[in-house]
Amino acid sequence: MEVVESRVASEVAGYKRLLQVKQEELVRAIARTDVDGRATSDIDTQDPVDKANGSFAKEYFFQQSDAERAILGLVQAALARAENGEFGICVACGKPLEPKRLEAVPWARHCIRCQKLQDKGLL
Ligand SMILES: [Zn+2]
Repeated sequence: MEVVESRVASEVAGYKRLLQVKQEELVRAIARTDVDGRATSDIDTQDPVDKANGSFAKEYFFQQSDAERAILGLVQAALARAENGEFGICVACGKPLEPKRLEAVPWARHCIRCQKLQDKGLL
């Protein structure tokens, strides 16, 4: 594999701070969602309508926390790449990610071209 030009250290440090802030936000959001989810499942009711609403809300909380956990995983992987000098490098083609891509999604793993391929199921 060809040696790729790594990103400027100061640039990576900036994204790393962004990722750390995002990581803290997600950890807090997941903890909060878990508490809300538990509170919802504690609703003890004999009314079938209330019961249905309760399980719908529970489902919603679990889905929300799944999405948050998935992003947290990506954020943590991006922080690990920042540690080993691979941050901002497309995991598929090894080319540097476009700055506008990193600005929009600092934890992105793929460059715009590869992301489009992946979205179409071609990667
Ligand atoms: Zn790529």
